[in-house]
Amino acid sequence: MAEVGAGVDKVQVGDWVVLPFNISCGHCKNCEWQLTNYCLTAQPEPKMAGAAYGFADMGAYGGGQAELLRVPWGDFNCLLLGEDAEQRQTDYVMLADIFPTGYHATEMAGVQPGDQTVIYGAGPVGLMAALSATIRGASKVMVVDRHPDRLRLAESIGAITIDDSKVDPVQVVLDETMGLGADNGCECVGYQAHDPRRPGAAQPDDEPAGRLGTLHREDRQCRRLRPAGPRGR
Ligand SMILES: [Zn+2]
Repeated sequence: MAEVGAGVDKVQVGDWVVLPFNISCGHCKNCEWQLTNYCLTAQPEPKMAGAAYGFADMGAYGGGQAELLRVPWGDFNCLLLGEDAEQRQTDYVMLADIFPTGYHATEMAGVQPGDQTVIYGAGPVGLMAALSATIRGASKVMVVDRHPDRLRLAESIGAITIDDSKVDPVQVVLDETMGLGADNGCECVGYQAHDPRRPGAAQPDDEPAGRLGTLHREDRQCRRLRPAGPRGR
């Protein structure tokens, strides 16, 4: 911590902290419900919720990849690290993004020991969600994607991989779960993804509802679904 504003009490200059990529106030209704990714204060657009550093449409907060960062609501956003912070900084930096995002997906999905979990998307967040589901004791983790390199990585951490460009993922999940469907699912494609049905589209398709519908397709693939992620509209 290089500098501290007058309104900050807990954090002091010289402290080692880690910052999540998203920004939250700590006192709005959503923050009090621990839905800090849907913070109602940090997002200037009233029709949206949630904010982040250096992210399109997530408020005017620069510095997502910068060496120095101005942190609003410093007391709430800074995660103070302990005495081993400097020694283990390359470990603690993993708490900033991607790993906690993937882990949070499994938290919101309520992944419990023994669960059969399906994860859509094997990018960095999806892979970390697959790893997190394994850490939480899921008995079977299925990962849906269509990029062979990503699926190989998912397989290397013990997931059952499903290439949805070659097979019907709903049917494979049903086959893998004795027709019951997964206990829970994590949507980890992200809202900036392109729709493979529209490969020539100039802009990324923003269809979170459509992708969540994929998890629920036929009302059988997945039994428990709660929305999570950086947007709350
Ligand atoms: Zn808030």
